[in-house]
Amino acid sequence: MKFRNFKLVGYVVYGRGSFNQLDEIIAPHRKEGKPMVFLVDHFFDGKPMVNRIPVRGNDKVIFVDVTYEPKTTYVDKLAQQLKEEFGTVSGVIGIGGGSAMDLAKAVSLMMNNTGSSADYQGWDLVKQPGVYKVGIPTLSGTGAEVSRTTVLTGPTKKLGMNSDFTPFDQIVLDPELTANAPANQRFYTGMDCYIHCIESLEGTFLNEFSKSYGEKALELCRDVFVKTDGWNDDCDDKLMMASYAGGMSIAYSQVGVAHAVSYGLSYLLGTKHGIGNCIVMNHLEEYYPAGVKEFKYMVEKNKIDIPTGICKGLSEDDFDKMIGVSMGMKPLWENALGKNWEKIMTREKLRALYDKL
Ligand code: NAD
Ligand code: ZN
Repeated sequence: MKFRNFKLVGYVVYGRGSFNQLDEIIAPHRKEGKPMVFLVDHFFDGKPMVNRIPVRGNDKVIFVDVTYEPKTTYVDKLAQQLKEEFGTVSGVIGIGGGSAMDLAKAVSLMMNNTGSSADYQGWDLVKQPGVYKVGIPTLSGTGAEVSRTTVLTGPTKKLGMNSDFTPFDQIVLDPELTANAPANQRFYTGMDCYIHCIESLEGTFLNEFSKSYGEKALELCRDVFVKTDGWNDDCDDKLMMASYAGGMSIAYSQVGVAHAVSYGLSYLLGTKHGIGNCIVMNHLEEYYPAGVKEFKYMVEKNKIDIPTGICKGLSEDDFDKMIGVSMGMKPLWENALGKNWEKIMTREKLRALYDKL
């Protein structure tokens, strides 16, 4: 047995208003003449938060388009633009949901690696450390702030740049930044965390490390979505820590059925990660009976709409593509169903599941 020796985030600051310390935190990482580049979720364009970004000298704020999940072409374009303008930069700071944070990680890596980010989609293919990078979540749930991957849609696959160079050097966890997220979006991204916990805790890869983080994250998700009526500041505080702990839990285990199936949807239909996981989770009673029951309760209690019928009218060819992408997520299936997963999850069975969505 070979144990995973995984790289963690360098520095973590947590607390309401901790965003105000950003200037001081990044100061020692500034290099003469080289800017800090802030990749900010386009939602914040024109919002008061922008005036709080510690812009100095030739620093650059770029509002990133996260209408679609990050593509390798977009990462390459951003990195190329920065190389042409500045040669190199002092650092890249991602402010936003999982999409903006993933873009920041990928652009940081591509500042010091040649070719296209598509060349590095996979495990441990990245050759050089990136430039200094900071992640600042404005939505809680994905765990992208702690993970060693950045999920990208490339020309041939949707796969992360998984590497020891990928985790952030610094993260700033300020729950005030998530305060005004719309209820549906907050729920979808929050459920990403809930589903990480269920998949990790119910998986065959589980160990005490993953369990201790997974159980805590699950408890926090329940505090927020089951035990609290409405939404308050405590919910933002708790969900931010749930996301962090959920990410730590899957770092040493793996996700499972909901993610494997949802990747197929996302590849073919462009369904976003959080909502895609919810659409799938709604139909996974057979695999996670207790988790799905509680999930449905949370959907109802929080008055959330989960789309249905999204696979209606798809061609056989479309189903084949989704099944292919999903079946390709081998470690996820092995975690969920054990070493003999291929005997349990057949193409026919997966086809029937996609039909229900
Ligand atoms: P997101 O980043 O895609 O953002 C969803 C929407 O919410 C966008 O329209 C965005 O503009 C908006 N938004 C962000 N912050 C807001 C705020 N405070 N108020 C109002 N609106 C706000 O959503 P997400 O669920 O956080 O991230 C999903 C992405 O994360 C996917 O691309 C997925 O692949 C990736 N992901 C990465 C990892 C990882 O480990 N790297 C893990 C899970 C998911
Ligand atoms: Zn996820």
